Amino acid sequence: MNNKKVVLILAPHTDDGELGCGGTIAKFCSEGSDVYYVAFSICSRSLPPDMHPQTLAIEVANATKVLGVKNENLILFDFDVRRFKEFRQEILEELIKLKNKLNPDIVFVPSPTDIHQDHQVISEEGLRAFKNCSILGYEMPWNNVAFNTRSFIKLNEEHIVKKIESLIEYKSQNERTYLNADFIRSLATIRGIQIGCKYAEAFEVIRWII
Ligand SMILES: [Zn+2]
Repeated sequence: MNNKKVVLILAPHTDDGELGCGGTIAKFCSEGSDVYYVAFSICSRSLPPDMHPQTLAIEVANATKVLGVKNENLILFDFDVRRFKEFRQEILEELIKLKNKLNPDIVFVPSPTDIHQDHQVISEEGLRAFKNCSILGYEMPWNNVAFNTRSFIKLNEEHIVKKIESLIEYKSQNERTYLNADFIRSLATIRGIQIGCKYAEAFEVIRWII
């Protein structure tokens, strides 16, 4: 990670990218890489009636800003939650447009073993669209029956703090147990111990091009 790269984060829903690779996003941004964050649903039609439909669009903008992602590099879609399979071809076409426009060096997708139906679509279509790119699968322990920790990105305290602070921006989601600092720090500590450093995020290698 010495030279600057074009990095693309594919998040099925807002917050997936921060949870799966928020520390890595902070690291790439601090090193001057061009990081793009794409969320495929802002859940505008499935939020509780007392919540503004744009709530998650605002929260993901704030969260990714904390990590260092430029506002113009945040791309939002609004496919219906849990129904991505119905829009598979439409999603693939959007991904191909992104590939042609950005030509990223590395793409981050949910792990291929993620059991969430929407995450599966983004993982599969990402592999289909980005044939010439390195692809890493990120970890979401509540969705992964198994996760192969095949690659690691070392992180420092600042990256972890930014990851935690970015997730605090999801104020509408604060009942979710995994959106807490102890969990983020603990998982990063486990992944760090596996490779002999303080903190890390782990990824499955889907394709690695050197
Ligand atoms: Zn999700």
